[in-house]
Amino acid sequence: MKETSRKFLLPEVQIPNIVPIAMQNFTQYFKGFEKVAAVREIFGEDTDRVLSELKVEFFSSKFGYMGVSDEDGHLIVSAYYLKNGDPTSKYLDVVHELVHVKQYRQGKALFDETFEYHDRPTELEAYRHAVDEARRLGMSDHEIFEYLRVDWMSEDEVRKLARNIGIKPPPRRGDGERVR
Ligand SMILES: [Zn+2]
Repeated sequence: MKETSRKFLLPEVQIPNIVPIAMQNFTQYFKGFEKVAAVREIFGEDTDRVLSELKVEFFSSKFGYMGVSDEDGHLIVSAYYLKNGDPTSKYLDVVHELVHVKQYRQGKALFDETFEYHDRPTELEAYRHAVDEARRLGMSDHEIFEYLRVDWMSEDEVRKLARNIGIKPPPRRGDGERVR
């Protein structure tokens, strides 16, 4: 569940553990992202300006991780997840969400309900970018697959998502493998 078992060397960023339940400036809490190559690939020359203008809303709930508002493009982050989540997962989630920030700025509909989540083009673009970064960190397909698991996607859905973004799902328990 949004867990990676190994520790990976992340770029020099700071992600807060304890946050107020309020709307804040992104760069006040998430530091160093403007220097990350994977982030600069998203926004190019506009990186510093976009991040300095970005707002982040911390909410209190045991459910959910991060998202982007389709009303004004601000980042929405669970304080519980920041406190309890795995550092690599949180880092990759920020990279993923920043792709949605760009999509919002491009006028794209973030939640096009004509697609299911695991097929939605805006999601696939965000996942592909985060997965490129995960591979750069040294994560295997199996580790990336585990990162993709969330409680609101079924096993079939997470497997479809994985295939859509070029991650080879591990064999299903009980099929293909025979243990003596
Ligand atoms: Zn997304």
